[in-house]
Amino acid sequence: MNIQQAEQSKLCGQHAVVIGASMAGLLAGRVLSDHFERVTIIERDCFPTGVEARKGVPQGRHAHGLLTKGASILMEFFPELFPALLEGGSSDADMVADLRWHHFGVWKAQFPSNMTGYIQSRPFLEEHVRSCLAARENVRFIDGCEVAQLCANSDRTSITGVQLRHRNGAQSEETLSADLVIDASGRGSQAPQWLTSLGYARVKEESVKVDVGYASRVYRRPSQLPSNWKALLIYPKAPEGKRAGLILPMEGDAWMVTLAGWLRDYPSDDETGFLDYARSLPMPDLYEAIKDAEPVTPIVTHKFPANQRRYYERMARFPEGFIIVGDALCSFNPVYGQGMTVAALEASALQACLQQQQSRGTRRNVAGFAHRFQKAVAKVVNVPWQLATGEDLRYPQTVGKRPPGTSLLHWYMGRVHELVASDHRATLRFYEVMNMLKPPLALFEPHILFAVLFKGQRQRRGHDAAVGQVEAEKREMEGAPR
Ligand SMILES: Cc1cc2nc3c(=O)[nH]c(=O)nc-3n(C[C@H](O)[C@H](O)[C@H](O)COP(=O)(O)OP(=O)(O)OC[C@H]3O[C@@H](n4cnc5c(N)ncnc54)[C@H](O)[C@@H]3O)c2cc1C
Repeated sequence: MNIQQAEQSKLCGQHAVVIGASMAGLLAGRVLSDHFERVTIIERDCFPTGVEARKGVPQGRHAHGLLTKGASILMEFFPELFPALLEGGSSDADMVADLRWHHFGVWKAQFPSNMTGYIQSRPFLEEHVRSCLAARENVRFIDGCEVAQLCANSDRTSITGVQLRHRNGAQSEETLSADLVIDASGRGSQAPQWLTSLGYARVKEESVKVDVGYASRVYRRPSQLPSNWKALLIYPKAPEGKRAGLILPMEGDAWMVTLAGWLRDYPSDDETGFLDYARSLPMPDLYEAIKDAEPVTPIVTHKFPANQRRYYERMARFPEGFIIVGDALCSFNPVYGQGMTVAALEASALQACLQQQQSRGTRRNVAGFAHRFQKAVAKVVNVPWQLATGEDLRYPQTVGKRPPGTSLLHWYMGRVHELVASDHRATLRFYEVMNMLKPPLALFEPHILFAVLFKGQRQRRGHDAAVGQVEAEKREMEGAPR
């Protein structure tokens, strides 16, 4: 057996097909290229020739932050990616020192950390990831082509490929066989309908309705940059406040400015309304930064109705040879910036499951794999789902299941948010959890727990006493009875 044959005998199958060439599809494609002889990625859109947002990924016109965990996974998969991004104009930033973030009524502390982030526009990132993947010999893209249906074996227990509909030119149809089909077609995924049409039950879905609206505009980055931030975030104190705004640097010496509002408090797409909305944020810094800056694009909007999760792992019957990842599985309120990082974590889970499959001696056979993978990936999704929906549930108007202990958790996290203004250890843990480098349990370590339970109370008692005294002195000066 020569080296190539030996390598191939380790593979899980001949051909894997990925539906959708956005972040989840590209990352899954990267992993599959290590485990299948050939990988084909099908994309409904025609790829743009330059760096631009496309129809299938309309969110590309809005601010996209990549969390540190996501960046480190991308770095593992594509060592050449970040040098190329930086070369092309991405910004690197210390995720604590260079981020000026007002949240929950306080500015978070800023100090040097070892958390590096890379900031750029979403289409710029996606285009670079796609070209890194395209450089792999066994990966092929078919764009301008949609998957219209899944193909199954005669007793419909296994998915055997996909039905393609080419959209450019003749609108021709074609069948593509595959050992494994991965749905990464986003939150509008047809997988629930495809499965029911094959005789499977309808997947159980959960949603937490938030009605978030985005409005974004690119500005030229001013020559005189603020000295204390590369990225600026102004977030509300829920449930009183519903408006947020952020400025992220992007390639081409530009700023991506995004305004966002919860529960239909949508930012406007006209010039005056956009600036008025910016002025109405809890702090004036964002408005001050853009009021004299030069806009270079029109204002674009996007509406995001609800966090949405599909529980494929709970289906009693599920076909072999088909898995679901990315927003098609779970899509989060985008204001927390989790989607791409979760897609990266899911790709890592795919890597682990495929390696396990091979070590079981089930090479060239994906039997049992689909169910095992959906169970593994559900675990990946649990924490970010709880983080996103947990914060959204601070608004009493949010429609969704409130897990027991929600109010207590809100109280605790509210204290942590306050602590993060001054306590560096708590700040670091907060950023580590937010960047998915540590589990949320890290926010309950003794130092933070103690500070939340006692320090906050002492400070609040001190604050309340001081406020009481000022009020009393004011009344005394006005001659009012005490
Ligand atoms: C407004 C907004 C802002 C966001 N901000 C952030 C952020 O700051 N940070 C972050 O990490 N995440 C953010 N996200 C989430 C992030 O964009 C997604 O989680 C990420 O793109 C992964 O999604 P995906 O690849 O699963 O699906 P999508 O990005 O939705 O892509 C699906 C792809 O599948 C293609 N497709 C669909 N159907 C078919 C078919 N039948 N056949 C072939 N192709 C098909 C589409 O054309 C598209 O290319 C944001 C989302 C929104 C809406």
